[in-house]
Parts: sequence; structure tokens; C-alpha cells
Amino acid sequence: MKELIILGSTGSIGTQSLEVARKQGIRVTGLAAGSNDKLLEKQAREFKPLTVALSDEAAAARLKIALADTDISVLSGKDGVNAVATGRGDMVLCAIVGIAGLESTLSAIDAKKDIALANKETLVTGGEIVKRKIAEKNVRLLPVDSEHSAIFQSLQGAPKGSLNKIILTASGGPFFGKTREELKNVTVKEALNHPNWTMGAKITIDSATLMNKGLEVIEAVHLFDVSPDDIEVLVHRQSILHSAVELSDGAVIAQLGTPDMKIPIQYAFTYPERGLKFENLSLSKIGSLTFQKPDIDTFKCLSTCIEAIKKGGLYPAAANGANEEAVKLFLDGKIKFLDIADLVYEGMKAAPEIKDFTLNDIYDTDALARQRVKDLC
Ligand code: NDP
Repeated sequence: MKELIILGSTGSIGTQSLEVARKQGIRVTGLAAGSNDKLLEKQAREFKPLTVALSDEAAAARLKIALADTDISVLSGKDGVNAVATGRGDMVLCAIVGIAGLESTLSAIDAKKDIALANKETLVTGGEIVKRKIAEKNVRLLPVDSEHSAIFQSLQGAPKGSLNKIILTASGGPFFGKTREELKNVTVKEALNHPNWTMGAKITIDSATLMNKGLEVIEAVHLFDVSPDDIEVLVHRQSILHSAVELSDGAVIAQLGTPDMKIPIQYAFTYPERGLKFENLSLSKIGSLTFQKPDIDTFKCLSTCIEAIKKGGLYPAAANGANEEAVKLFLDGKIKFLDIADLVYEGMKAAPEIKDFTLNDIYDTDALARQRVKDLC
């Protein structure tokens, strides 16, 4: 890869991607984000991209004034973000959070860019459409999510058709082992306190509810063409074994490493080559690795996502839309932690049965599920 575009550059994945780009000496040609004009200005001054964009019009107007002494073109709104996604560059890292990242990812594929995909909601909501476009435009889709990168890495060299089963690991989040009774009154602050990873607020709450693992099951179904029944989710508290595959002869191949998103980000950038070294993994210091079945009666979002992908069609998009709305309400202090799972289940059921659905049907379903959640609160 010679030139890189980063969508969601001001977020957790975006800023870590820029660290990797800095370390690897990768030229960054485009940066886009939502509303953080101060950070985007700083990034633009350091990386000197050709174009930057903010979806928030007022923030983009401030950024335009701030960067007036440079040659960098400053765009605004959804169209501006899409223009960055389709501008000069070989690969686009898609790290906008939520379904908001779907359109720009599709635009980047249309413009024949290779995709490094962090935004799992893109595949959860638009998996079929994204995969069709990837094949049609003959571009690469490289997973950034640590679990999917681990699966992808473990499959290198495995003969076609030899994948038996995926073992998808989960940290269990901050509330692992807690009962429903103990979860009744947990606070936003407690839910945002992830034991192993520092991430954006939405995915951190998703980790606490196990929705994140449910979204990842759906993501894995699309990325690796497996049935949901061929995915086993295991809680692995140490977040060292990032996921594994079982092959047809029973051999299990896994990828292990320190919990550092820069490793999978870099692999997506350098694939099939290996990049520069990050922190050492000392297995003797860790001592033991543990694996347990998840408690799906307490953390119901996981089973809702599995039900959604088994039903197929627009059910995953509905579950995702309901979750995005419910997480927002929880972060705003308007609902309790346990309400999230109930609302996701109700929202998922609101999906219309449309066989050959379009992109517009996905957005309509997203809106429907969000409305269902609001109506229930
Ligand atoms: P953050 O919340 O930290 O960052 C989100 C980014 O998206 C920010 O740059 C934000 O801009 C931007 N953004 C939000 N809405 C819009 C919009 N409408 N248009 C353009 N940009 C927008 O999230 P994370 O970095 O944690 O996560 C990003 C994605 O990667 C998610 O889908 C997540 O599930 C996935 N992921 C994250 C991991 C992690 O370790 N963080 C691990 C694996 C996957 P601004 O801040 O300027 O408003």
C-alpha cells in the first residue's frame, strides 16, 4: 500500500491507525471524521493529507478557517466524507462508528479502493451488499477487528474448504460473572470501564452487554462464509488469544498477542507482509489462559444477534439499529443497563420480511428499529 485514507481518524481506531502510519512511514492522503475539528486540524498539520472532511457542518466550517494557511482541501457533510473515501489513495481504513460508516465504505469500494474494515456495523447491516460489491470491483476486504484479524491470520495457508469451526474469543467485559440482580443498577462509568481494551464509548458498552460479540458473530459469518452454528464463542478473560480456527483434521490454529489494536491494524495495512514489531508477548508472565462458556441468559444481546443472523434478511440491521439507539439512551442516563438487551430484542423483531432488500431497505429498517426503541422507552 502506498497511500492511505482514514475514515473516523479522530476515534480510538483512527488515532491508533495514524500511529501505525507514522511508524510504517505510510503516506496519508485523506482524513475524515464527525465533529472533532481540533483533533482533525492537528492530524492534518502533521500528516498533510490532500483532503479532509467533517460530517458536522459547523465543525467543518471552523476547520476550514483553521486550515486556511495550508493547501489542504476541507469538505463538509456526508458528501464531504464520501469525497474523502473516494479520493486519491490505495486503501481506505473504515473506522467510523455505527451504521454511519456504511455509505462511505460502499463509496470507497465503488472507487476500487482496498478496504481495511474496523467498522463491524457495516457488515452487520449491509453484509450481502458489501460482499457483492467487493467481488464486483475486485478489491480486498481486510479485517481490522482483532478477533477477525486473528481468524484471518490463522487461516493463512489453510487449504480452501478446510475450515471446520471458528472459536471467537470474548474478554467478557467489565461485568463478567455478574448476575442480573447485580447488573440492575450498574452505572455508565462502570460499564465504560473495560478491563483490557481502551476503545470508543459505543463499542465499550457493546463489550459490557456482549452485543459486541454478537455483532462479531454476524461479521464472521459474512467474512468467512460460515454458518452461525460453526462459531463457538468463548470467554477468555486475558484477551491474549484473539481467536482460533479448527481445521478439518481437528488441528486448532490461533493467533496470540498483547491486546494492542495496532497489531491487527498494521497487518491489514501490510498484508501479506508482516510489519514492524510492537510490544513483546511473554507467555510465562501471563502464566495461564482460561476459557469459559458465555452466560447468554444474563447477557442476552449475544443470543439476539445469533437469532438475527439465523433469521437473515434485515434482522441483523434491525438488531444493530435498536442497539445503537439503546446505547445512546443508556449513555445519556435515560435507561438502565439491563434495558439495552430487552430493547435490542424488541427492535430486532421489528425487521420487515423483504427478500431481495436494497440499501434503502437497510436504512428504513434501521430507522424502524430505532423508532421501536424510542416508543418503548
Ligand atoms: P470512536 O467512537 O472512538 O470513534 C468513532 C469515529 O467515527 C470518530 O472519528 C468520529 O468522529 C467518527 N464519526 C462518528 N460519526 C460520524 C459520521 N456520521 N461521519 C463521519 N465520522 C463519524 O470509535 P472506535 O474507534 O472505538 O470504533 C470505530 C469502529 O471500529 C466501530 O465500528 C467499532 O466497533 C470498531 N472497532 C473498534 C475497536 C477499538 O478498539 N476501538 C476494535 C475493533 C473494532 P468525531 O469523534 O470527530 O465525532
